[in-house]
Amino acid sequence: LTLRSAAVDEAAALLGARVERERPLGPLTTYRVGGPAALYLEVTGEEDLALAQQAVARSGVPVLVLGRGSNLLVADRGYAGLVVSLGPSFRQVVAEEGPDADRGDRRVRVGGAASLPVAARQTVAMALAGFEWAVGVPGSLGGAVRMNAGGHGSDMAACLMDARVVDLRLGHDEVVAAERLELGYRHSLVRPEQVVVWGRVALHEGDRQAGEALLAEIVQWRREHQPGGQNAGSVFINPPGDAAGRLVEAAGLKGHRRGSAQVSPKHANFIQADGGGSADDVRALMEEVRAVVADRCGVWLQSEVRLIGFEEPIAPRS
Ligand SMILES: Cc1cc2nc3c(=O)[nH]c(=O)nc-3n(C[C@H](O)[C@H](O)[C@H](O)COP(=O)(O)OP(=O)(O)OC[C@H]3O[C@@H](n4cnc5c(N)ncnc54)[C@H](O)[C@@H]3O)c2cc1C
Repeated sequence: LTLRSAAVDEAAALLGARVERERPLGPLTTYRVGGPAALYLEVTGEEDLALAQQAVARSGVPVLVLGRGSNLLVADRGYAGLVVSLGPSFRQVVAEEGPDADRGDRRVRVGGAASLPVAARQTVAMALAGFEWAVGVPGSLGGAVRMNAGGHGSDMAACLMDARVVDLRLGHDEVVAAERLELGYRHSLVRPEQVVVWGRVALHEGDRQAGEALLAEIVQWRREHQPGGQNAGSVFINPPGDAAGRLVEAAGLKGHRRGSAQVSPKHANFIQADGGGSADDVRALMEEVRAVVADRCGVWLQSEVRLIGFEEPIAPRS
């Protein structure tokens, strides 16, 4: 099995010295398992973004925009395409003047590569309220827009105003109003070849001490209720009116193991990988859980985790 193709070779030639070949992706994800990317580009600034756009448009190479890898499972055989990752210059968190500043409204522009927990802490340090929930989600702003990440009673849909989106395939570069992204439950219209370069969130003046107390409360709640170790958060989307974790537990699968992967004994909607484990074991366990839950509870669970480089996506059977 090879990760090479005519499109990969053409993209590599167009990207030249900027691109890395066969870069292991496991260490760039929270699962810490899985194979390499055929091509990997860390975007250091606008020039790289333009270069990536040309290479993708001309070669037709498949693209994966990688954030902090906290919602991905990469197959052991790797990814036969170009992985694009925004570098440190896309991590800035900057307060901007808005038209309603006199009413206490504030807007903050968050770089696509900014870590949500870091951005949450920075907004609290600016004495702003409304982004504290993000301290518990270990993703990037770009990944959070794509997934409409959320928790603790809020989500990106509740605070995102607009985002700069660059389409690597079509070459479009525009600031898109949040309404046009149709953020829904763990869903948006951001496509695989689109890069969220930054997002602007609408916050309001708050009390710094109260914000810090809320951050501490959220971090504490996470420690108590979620497992540590190698995982990507919730594996399955909650079906309407139910919780995926409840169904997995009801099916008797809490703690169930398959090779190097295990349904967390602490939270049944988490699957953990052992150190040095295999992504294919995680995937096989996901399929087993789906089949057993369907059999015992009558519901086909859908994956929230993005599966990268596997032969077939999880079938929607519902
Ligand atoms: C311990 C743990 C707890 C978690 N808790 C929560 C939770 O409470 N709520 C929740 O919603 N999620 C949770 N998650 C999942 C995850 O953190 C979120 O989905 C997060 O938004 C993913 O961001 P990321 O940067 O890691 O994206 P990645 O995992 O790198 O990518 C996820 C998707 O976003 C796309 N993407 C990434 N960056 C960009 C970008 N700049 N532009 C365009 N597309 C991009 C990728 O192509 C991919 O499709 C948890 C994960 C872990 C490990």
